[in-house]
Amino acid sequence: MERIIEVEKFSEEQSFESSLRPTEWSEYIGQEKIKNNLKVFIQACKKRGEPLDHVLFFGPPGLGKTTLANIIAAQMQSSIKTTAAPMIEKSGDLAAILTNLEEGDILFIDEIHRLSPAIEEILYPAMEDFRLDIIIGSGPAAQTIKIDLPRFTLIGATTRAGMLSSPLRDRFGMHFRLQFYTPQELAQIVTNAAKKLGKSIEQEAALEIARRSRGTPRIALRLLRRVRDFADVAEEATITLQRTQEALEALGVDERGFDELDLRLLNLLAQAKGRPLGLATIAAALSEDEGTIEDVIEPYLLANGYIERTARGRVATPKTYELLHLSPKIQSTLF
Ligand code: ADP
Repeated sequence: MERIIEVEKFSEEQSFESSLRPTEWSEYIGQEKIKNNLKVFIQACKKRGEPLDHVLFFGPPGLGKTTLANIIAAQMQSSIKTTAAPMIEKSGDLAAILTNLEEGDILFIDEIHRLSPAIEEILYPAMEDFRLDIIIGSGPAAQTIKIDLPRFTLIGATTRAGMLSSPLRDRFGMHFRLQFYTPQELAQIVTNAAKKLGKSIEQEAALEIARRSRGTPRIALRLLRRVRDFADVAEEATITLQRTQEALEALGVDERGFDELDLRLLNLLAQAKGRPLGLATIAAALSEDEGTIEDVIEPYLLANGYIERTARGRVATPKTYELLHLSPKIQSTLF
């Protein structure tokens, strides 16, 4: 079954997403601190006629990192080249990208924690001194050729700040951690997106979608798209609360936006009766890879107090026992 709240991008969805992607600050809802800081830095750089310092965004998928990179480019009136670390396999791939940049261009590298150490080595002088060091030959006869690069801005995005090597992290002048969105912010995003799609939506309906979106714009937009289908079939110009609830019910979206995997994880921890479980154990029990659990599933549950991370592993909180209609007291006496 397709995970309706899955946050990875489907290609069919990418064009839908990009058609809704904000290009101006006024359309980018929430993340106020990040926005305010970036606005100041961008203004200062434009005044000085300099390119922006390198920027690193981290946070779970679907929170708006790529969107921010695009807004920065639009605001700097720069062109943006977008790539993802898994696509840069050989040093020549990166050299080709870098030498094709022009002064002031923005290079956006998604999943930047996945660059290989050899590629990272090439990136360091490029970021620091706008210089490409190419080694020709090997052994004592090896020669380094230095090529000057135009001054560009690297924007890196990662779901895992912890996996970024510290030399790479340190070379970014600005670091921003994206936060999950409040239901009110998501409702605003949904309302704006519906408008772009030529539909109106009741405020309560937008909030209903927002509450079930795990704090994530990408999920909210995906749910909106499905709800819109139901409204279109019913030939309704306005998306109503009733139609929204009916659609979300039919799609099997949980009231809190939890999907099967969230609930399986919470159940697993609750069954452990207070005993902390390590990531590897959880991954094996759920037949999921550790990365998905750590990057996609856990952050929202942690941010909302459903699980806690201790030095010995993950434990369920009283909120989880309540959600699953289990008593934490019974659990702890059993323990
Ligand atoms: P990420 O790069 O973090 O995975 P994206 O930038 O691709 O996330 O965002 C996913 C979708 O959510 C985009 O299509 C964008 O339209 C929407 N979105 C993300 N953040 C916001 C925001 N703050 N305001 C409005 N729309 C947003």
